[in-house]
Amino acid sequence: MIRKKDTLFCPECAQERETKVGERKEEYSVRGEKVNIDAKVRFCTQCNTPVFDEDLDEATIQAAYDAYREKHGFLKPKDIKELREVYGLSQRGMAALLNWSPNTIARYEGGALPDPAHMTTLLMLRDNHDYVEKLYKVNKEAMGKLDQRRIERALEEKNSGNVLRLKDVVQERYDRINEELRGFSDFDFDKMRNMVLFFAETHQQISKTKLMKCLFYTDFLHYKNHHTSVSGLPYQRMPFGPVPYNHWLLLDSLSEEMAISLLPFDLAEGEFVRARAKADLSLFTATELETMRRVVDYIAKHSAKSISDYSHEEKAHEETEEGDLITYRYGKDLREF
Ligand SMILES: [Zn+2]
Repeated sequence: MIRKKDTLFCPECAQERETKVGERKEEYSVRGEKVNIDAKVRFCTQCNTPVFDEDLDEATIQAAYDAYREKHGFLKPKDIKELREVYGLSQRGMAALLNWSPNTIARYEGGALPDPAHMTTLLMLRDNHDYVEKLYKVNKEAMGKLDQRRIERALEEKNSGNVLRLKDVVQERYDRINEELRGFSDFDFDKMRNMVLFFAETHQQISKTKLMKCLFYTDFLHYKNHHTSVSGLPYQRMPFGPVPYNHWLLLDSLSEEMAISLLPFDLAEGEFVRARAKADLSLFTATELETMRRVVDYIAKHSAKSISDYSHEEKAHEETEEGDLITYRYGKDLREF
């Protein structure tokens, strides 16, 4: 860009001259305030007179504005663009949200210096989430449908982000557990969720006890044959056999994520688990699916009581103290179905 302009008309020499770019200190007045900047200026190589260069001139104005922005804590054009993108808004949409004329945001993002009242509003927009919600309520009708949908989604995400979700609690808790107790896999909430959905789908409704055994046998059987668990779940010895560690927390996190409903039995103590979504099997490898199907076949043929009794005879259960986590090393001793 600069190369093309090497030769320009010099008013002093009154003819075309070679030029070069140099720097000099300049004082600018921005909104009545003196601002000092190092301006890039083009000079005639013969007489050293500055020669006008539109691009450099524009860059100098922006440098002066930047100095002013810096001094007064103004957002830069790229910050305004980023702020707008947080809410997924178009330039017009954001202007409408603020009840400003339609091209105001476009001008500010293009380098125009916002007036101080507007800048105050933009800073509030950045720092105060409630303020955005209030503005949206007031100015919603002035915004296009697409902008409405996008800001609503962004506000929803921000609101849900304020609450600690149980799935994050589960993830954090399991992440801290030794990998030998996770079957040398990282705990993967999404995979676990879809394992649960897969097992729940194979029955109209599966009892909680059966589901816990399905998970245990899938992970341990897979470990036995492939040296790694499927879900990365840690298991714990409980009076009713091996179950995922903190299994109530796990089930609660699945309810919160709308994956399952827990329903009480009519006549006996205990719960059914019902799937509320379809299992996504694309998350699993062919061998993982094979393990899961083997477990389903086995579970389908036996009652919850007999599976539970069977699991009690596993070395994994017998040699672990009540309440302790079970090492996957017992996977190798798992009896074949
Ligand atoms: Zn000259």
